[in-house]
Amino acid sequence: MDHGDPRLDEVIAAIDVGIKRLLQTKDAELYMFASNGHGAWEAAIENLLAPGQTVLIPGTGHFSESWALQAEALGRRVIRTPFREGHPIDPQAVEQALRADVEREIVAVFAVHTDTASSTTSDLAALRAAIDAAGHPALFVVDVVASLAAAPFAMDAMRVNVAVGATQKGLMSPPGMSFVAVDRRADEVAAGNPAPRYYWDWSRRKGDQSYRKFCGTPPQNLLYGIEAALGLLFLEGIDAIIARHAQLARAVHAAVECWSRDGAVMFHCRVPAARSVSVTTIETRAGIDPEAMRTVARERFQVAIAGGLGPQGGRAFRIGHLGNLNSAMILGCLAGVEAAMQVQKIPYGRGGMEAAITSLGG
Ligand SMILES: *Cc1c(COP(=O)(O)O)cnc(C)c1O
Repeated sequence: MDHGDPRLDEVIAAIDVGIKRLLQTKDAELYMFASNGHGAWEAAIENLLAPGQTVLIPGTGHFSESWALQAEALGRRVIRTPFREGHPIDPQAVEQALRADVEREIVAVFAVHTDTASSTTSDLAALRAAIDAAGHPALFVVDVVASLAAAPFAMDAMRVNVAVGATQKGLMSPPGMSFVAVDRRADEVAAGNPAPRYYWDWSRRKGDQSYRKFCGTPPQNLLYGIEAALGLLFLEGIDAIIARHAQLARAVHAAVECWSRDGAVMFHCRVPAARSVSVTTIETRAGIDPEAMRTVARERFQVAIAGGLGPQGGRAFRIGHLGNLNSAMILGCLAGVEAAMQVQKIPYGRGGMEAAITSLGG
């Protein structure tokens, strides 16, 4: 298809409406990129902060740290809050860091809603309240890459200034398209930011033509897939999707609870209420090789388990329960994990499948 074909403009317009509806925003502008999530991260950094300016990035795990390193590599100054492994963001630490910033140098707080490595979901309402309590004008920027269309999120109601997302997680599409939703205040900050930029510049992505919206040729085949995926999501309904993710996560957590009984494996996230509905990170005791277990699961039982990332590398595995999944798929996945643990003689607590079935049945 020619990139000037009006049918493409229609698809892009439908995606614009659909993603804003998912984000629950009426006021924000949506800017899209032919990139993975790291591209949208970079767009947030480049547009909101001039080199030398400061961003507060509360620790959530590997993903908050990756975003922080990216900001530092681009010459921005990063303040981190103390991070406790296995814990969500501490809103009090955020409030303290903002109160301590008497010169008002912090331009934005970059918060990862669900950290896909630590499988921890932080409380966005509490973070918003912390920023308000400090009386600080910092923008509230939230990475919803791994939580959108899985955990509850409402950009306008939560007064999030910028939401950052990508297509390959809850949006059930191939990787390669990312986006930022930007409210008026954040757009003004970007407009006043002198940092040199071109491809990532939000203001270049205004306008109706598809070529303008993507600052070049749009990823057409991806866009058709995303439009179809959004159709599936709205057919099911946002509330039903949120409920399905919560139900499947409960089943996974019930199984992991059982497996953990004798201490061979355990939840990485120590705070039950902060355990993600998208992914569960499971630590393995010293002496257990999760990589060998993953290989058995993949080769003998056709179950692809993710490995530990960052500090969890080689000492954890992760079960993804995000996107186009149903109960039967989750039970198959859990059975494959259990079978692989049994082959590897990992002394896991028995009864996990039973617990998952009971959880789904209830
Ligand atoms: C996957 C992910 C990213 C990065 O996305 P890529 O497409 O891999 O660049 C950013 N944040 C979170 C929370 C993620 O899960």
